[in-house]
Amino acid sequence: MTSLVRDRFERPLRSLRVSVTDRCNMRCRYCMPQAEYIWLPRDSILTFEETDRLVGIFAGLGVTKLRLTGGEPLLRHDLPVLLSLLRRHASLSDVALTTNGILLGRHAAALRSAGLGRVTVSLDTLRPERMIAFAKSARHAEVVEGIAAAVAAGFEGIKLNTVVIRGFNDDEVVDLLEFARRRGLEARFIEYMDVGGATGWSMGQVVAQGEILEIIARHYGAVTTLDREGAAPAERFALGDGTIFGVIASTTAPFCRTCDRARLAADGTWLLCLYGESGLDLRELLRLGATDEEIRERIIATWQARTDRGAEARAALGERGVLYPIESLRADPRREMHTRGG
Ligand code: SAM
Repeated sequence: MTSLVRDRFERPLRSLRVSVTDRCNMRCRYCMPQAEYIWLPRDSILTFEETDRLVGIFAGLGVTKLRLTGGEPLLRHDLPVLLSLLRRHASLSDVALTTNGILLGRHAAALRSAGLGRVTVSLDTLRPERMIAFAKSARHAEVVEGIAAAVAAGFEGIKLNTVVIRGFNDDEVVDLLEFARRRGLEARFIEYMDVGGATGWSMGQVVAQGEILEIIARHYGAVTTLDREGAAPAERFALGDGTIFGVIASTTAPFCRTCDRARLAADGTWLLCLYGESGLDLRELLRLGATDEEIRERIIATWQARTDRGAEARAALGERGVLYPIESLRADPRREMHTRGG
């Protein structure tokens, strides 16, 4: 289906990330480093029926790619029920999930039966003790089991997301690539971004795409750059043996020009950019009794006015520090990555 709505830079609305909860069972230092968080009030979280209704409206406007995320999406009870609802929107050609994998072992088969198409698992280290130090989680073995369960459940094209941070896991790039290769997964190395809870961010900790490629080429020999897949965030590369991996260079080489992604926070705030300061409150429209047509019109008008190029604006800054200091995140938790959906 062609997108029915384009923004001020002619970018279509094609991809929606839906955060189903702001809660998480990990505390990654680059995302949720604080001890305490202000959670969204429970009654502000969209019900499955509300999420499904909004997704149906977005699908009618040409959104074909949907990704469930969070927080940790598998903390949301009965997620397969939501998936069975969402799968009824026939124009959605790609329904995916991003998870930290801790609960995947328990749910992989049910998610697959409910119609989930693809899974991405975030894994930053192969060393359990590093995960304890960096993410306050001792559940490394469960993540590895979760990945095995996803493979066993028949998911294809499973991706492994790794945020590469200097001095933390930059010595594991090759090991993580090998881990993925041996299991038939596609490794994705992500540059550390200064969004949301990355309150300890500094440019010095960012391992840029060029450096990640150098580390890989030093071990495996020359890598080939593959053609970019449309508006996908990752640039893809192949090793000599055909193994494909990706790098998401959002910090040093942002791709706002082709960005067709929007985000629906767990409370129904619709954000046009990962860096966007605020969004459109779709929950309020739903709960005030707006018709589908009224909601659709608001979405169209909002997208048509979109000029966001958040990552490029950040990259253009000479001196770059954290985007939001902690006080500002506390004042508006919707600025948190785990609330708006990573
Ligand atoms: N809990 C799920 C997970 O861990 O995959 C989904 C939400 S998480 C916010 C989604 C992705 O965002 C993860 O792969 C995580 O590593 C990434 N992420 C979070 N903060 C980041 C940052 N500051 N820079 C780069 N990637 C980040």
